[in-house]
Amino acid sequence: MYDVWQNALAEIEQQISAANFSTWFQGTSLISSDHGDIRIGVKNTFYIKQLRNRYLDIIKTALQNNNIEVSTIDFLVQNTTKAKVRPREVTKNTLIADAKKRIEHVNKKLNTNINSFNNGLNQKYTLDNFVVGSNNDLAVSAAKNIIANPGTKYNPFFLYGGPGLGKTHLVQAIGNALVKQNPDFKVFYTPINHFYSDFVDAIKAGKGKEFYLRFQKLDCLIIDDFQLIVNKEKSQEEFFNIFNDLYQLNKQIIVTSDRLPSQIKTVDERLASRLTWAGAFDLQLPKFEDKCAILRAKAELDGVEIEPEAIEYIAENVNTNIRDLEGEFSTILLMSEVRGLTPLELIQNGAVSVNKTSKLHPTSPKQVVDKVAKYYQLSTKELRSKSRVSNIKTARQVAMYILSKDLKLSTNKIATEVGVKDHSTVIHGIRKIDQDLKLNFTLRDQIEEIKEKIYG
Ligand code: ADP
Ligand code: MG
Repeated sequence: MYDVWQNALAEIEQQISAANFSTWFQGTSLISSDHGDIRIGVKNTFYIKQLRNRYLDIIKTALQNNNIEVSTIDFLVQNTTKAKVRPREVTKNTLIADAKKRIEHVNKKLNTNINSFNNGLNQKYTLDNFVVGSNNDLAVSAAKNIIANPGTKYNPFFLYGGPGLGKTHLVQAIGNALVKQNPDFKVFYTPINHFYSDFVDAIKAGKGKEFYLRFQKLDCLIIDDFQLIVNKEKSQEEFFNIFNDLYQLNKQIIVTSDRLPSQIKTVDERLASRLTWAGAFDLQLPKFEDKCAILRAKAELDGVEIEPEAIEYIAENVNTNIRDLEGEFSTILLMSEVRGLTPLELIQNGAVSVNKTSKLHPTSPKQVVDKVAKYYQLSTKELRSKSRVSNIKTARQVAMYILSKDLKLSTNKIATEVGVKDHSTVIHGIRKIDQDLKLNFTLRDQIEEIKEKIYG
């Protein structure tokens, strides 16, 4: 029975994303198969609905391919998750002892390399602990290509995305992997603002030349947070020279930024275009399954146990970025120790409430439409008109977007609120804003301001 299920799982794993597979299939078992009546064991009731709705066909085929007759499939809960963290008396000392244990655990996993302290790399960032999901798979496969063939196809490697989405982690992981596979490979990581201050210090000390030569010897230069580049001709020129030299020598250059170079006002146009010669890769917001997978990986790395329902709760309620996701996770674990309750018990008791989306105060659809219109200096009537004038259209689409994301109205209801005929216009409008938000920072700020006005 065990083997058959393992074979079926191996087949399922080929067909769905790694994140989905570990979210939904880890811990499942084949309990029995009796003349086509299949019973599959799952961890708790939450999984039943998901597996039934999303994966029934895949499971059926995988079993049939392993010569199991299938007519009905039932899911049964086996070993309901028990409270994992025992209630106990918590003192300052036990908290400190626990923290020490966790740090030891993490350190053991990190395999520290004391020779690399001055290359700017932090050993904690590796590809092994970077969870691959739909939000980052392209960037990760480029990263792997770079590790295998530095200075070739993806050179320069330009990685961009909003704060807290894993840029620093991924580029540091590349650096660490390069050093690990060849300790003589000279990697240097620096945020751009540190590059500047070092440059200024070097010039002041009359060591401009040494500064330049130090960079020229590198095999791989990693520049983080490029958007902080300042409009100082001399230092930008220095960076440009270093960049060109390394590039000519086929040395790997890696640059991260929260936006595309063309959207950074202070950057020289030639430099901007060169940075994306080999394309630009972005990191997106993680989807629900990606978030669950990240939290599970973190729990494992930290050596803590947390109920799957608690993980799902956090994943569902943090919609900003991965940094916030980790922050909420740590807060809940700490509170769980202090209160002597398991994370899930805490959540069920209402002792914690996570909401990292946007400030949601009750408001009516009409208020939203009014406030959006006002922001764009339009009357509500104008916003609800058929006009295709650009700013009226944008205002209408922004209203659709907020009504959908924050008030969770149906597209039909939104159509009525903003005065358009059919819901496909609404779907298009929301998609347009979603798309624009990725790169249009002005629009991002505008929507934030509008929300302040609506909810503030
Ligand atoms: P950025 O540089 O884009 O602002 P970071 O690289 O600092 O973001 O990531 C924020 C936090 O989220 C870090 O602790 C990082 O380890 C974690 N993180 C981001 N993406 C992932 C991922 N895919 N898997 C695991 N942890 C991640
Ligand atoms: Mg960063």
